[in-house]
Amino acid sequence: MTALRPMPVATSASAPYWDAVRAHRLVAPRCRRCATLFFYPRARCPSCLHDDLDWVELTGRGHVYSCTVVRQAAHPAFADHVPYVFAIVELEEGVRMPTNVIDCDPASVAPDDAVEVTFVDVDDELTLPMFRPVLQARR
Ligand code: ZN
Repeated sequence: MTALRPMPVATSASAPYWDAVRAHRLVAPRCRRCATLFFYPRARCPSCLHDDLDWVELTGRGHVYSCTVVRQAAHPAFADHVPYVFAIVELEEGVRMPTNVIDCDPASVAPDDAVEVTFVDVDDELTLPMFRPVLQARR
């Protein structure tokens, strides 16, 4: 029997994010007062603490800020997924998000690699934004 995957729980602050992801769009909250774009979604701007926020569509392009290869599943639901890449991806807009880099050899992923978002429909309820390498000439 396969263990059930831990599921994210949408809050009033994060529900618009999860709704967008389900529609295969990547968004982040932005403060209308000081223009700070931030991630993860929360009820107040982390810069000025105001709650007047809107949502900005992101390009989905960015680079690997940091990464590691997970070889030991931290939860039984991920036992069939190891080895996989856990990464912090920095989007072109400057926000960073925890994610996975997929569709590649895990050992090939390194900081500064160019990546682009891809949406993985885990099941009828859950879609996750993950990233895949963008093939380009090395600097
Ligand atoms: Zn602000």
